[in-house]
Amino acid sequence: MKNYDTLVVGGGVIGAALAFELASLRQSVLVLDRQEPGHEASWAAAGTISPAPDQEAAAIAALGCESYRLYPDFVSAIEAATGQSAGFHPNGAFELFFESNAEAERDQRLKQIRAAGIAAESISLTEAKRREPAIGPSARAALWIADEAHLDPRVLTRVTLAAAERAGAEIRAHTEAISVITRDSRCDGVLAARTETHHVAESRVRTAEKIAACNVVIAAGWRSKEIGGAESWAPSAPVRGQMVAFGRVPGAPRTILRCERGYMAPREDGRVVAGSTLEPGALDKHSTAAGLQKILAAATAMAPALADAPVLETWAGIRPDSPDHLPIIGATDVEGLFIATGHYRNGMLLAPATAKYLAQWIVEGRASKYFEPFSAARFAAASRGVNP
Ligand SMILES: Cc1cc2nc3c(=O)[nH]c(=O)nc-3n(C[C@H](O)[C@H](O)[C@H](O)COP(=O)(O)OP(=O)(O)OC[C@H]3O[C@@H](n4cnc5c(N)ncnc54)[C@H](O)[C@@H]3O)c2cc1C
Repeated sequence: MKNYDTLVVGGGVIGAALAFELASLRQSVLVLDRQEPGHEASWAAAGTISPAPDQEAAAIAALGCESYRLYPDFVSAIEAATGQSAGFHPNGAFELFFESNAEAERDQRLKQIRAAGIAAESISLTEAKRREPAIGPSARAALWIADEAHLDPRVLTRVTLAAAERAGAEIRAHTEAISVITRDSRCDGVLAARTETHHVAESRVRTAEKIAACNVVIAAGWRSKEIGGAESWAPSAPVRGQMVAFGRVPGAPRTILRCERGYMAPREDGRVVAGSTLEPGALDKHSTAAGLQKILAAATAMAPALADAPVLETWAGIRPDSPDHLPIIGATDVEGLFIATGHYRNGMLLAPATAKYLAQWIVEGRASKYFEPFSAARFAAASRGVNP
């Protein structure tokens, strides 16, 4: 039986980026995914690469800024490995304010962003509309954030998976990790089940197997807590988010626009995607009338030209949240078992830094200062009644 250096459970953007980093460091790497890799939260995301934290995400600002700094090199590396474009556009973002106290809200938001060490400037609406003519007449104040980018998450994840394979990682679809195998407080691999569909007989066959690895990383998104032996370190929780894609229309925005009620980002092909909702616990991937209504109202208030655009696609995805809404990254009490989940609303942003520093931790045994607030021990310790 082959013994991999590292087995990564989950082929979303986090697992893919980590597999790429580890394989680039000459590790033998296997990625397992219970479905086609890249088809869960990483398929559903909007693709704003935004280190400016909201109130809830202030604790991820340092990791977010570092990940944003790493993005151009990360993108160059996966593009060089594959010859494919990852479509990274560092074009900045406008935040818009609509309420009667818009200027006070803008000033408060400016303070919050600057406190995180991110450059932002208050600009007049005239100047904002000169730079982005799509901005509608009901906006009352605007902020400009230069360090922000957009990309298509489906493309980024596909190119990252391809880059990981080019670097030598093996990727197995339709193979579900059921539980981690531990012996004497050491992780030895996983028990997995592979599903094969036989189209002629119209049947599906599940085959169980043990896969040996020196290290196992649980990067299974919102389902991480379902994996036996990982649940106390990775108590992931699902939060559904809905999205809308508009077709090409004259006067559509070319930069990210955001307000308290929603956001939108342009795509390379002229579409504009807009989101989103926050629906804890919702597991089905339906769009709802209420969700779409909220997204469409915010989008057309920010960019009225979208009112005439065709709606090309609506979808919903499940974000991987955690009990304190912060990522869970790092080693566990079980030697060789690592966690990389809980990236919630920021997994696209956080993928390069999560992958780079977790790969270093696995290969060199060096924990990164960026992961200190996100210790995988904090929930396990709490469940045993001790301070993490
Ligand atoms: C509507 C929406 C909008 C978003 N917008 C943004 C944004 O603009 N910017 C941003 O930074 N982030 C955004 N996010 C968040 C981002 O999508 C996630 O944080 C990120 O995709 C998480 O990546 P992941 O690899 O951890 O999880 P996933 O992409 O969910 O990947 C996990 C993988 O693990 C596999 N898996 C699960 N269980 C098992 C198992 N037992 N065995 C094997 N495989 C398993 C799954 O099949 C899946 O492929 C958004 C999310 C949503 C839903």
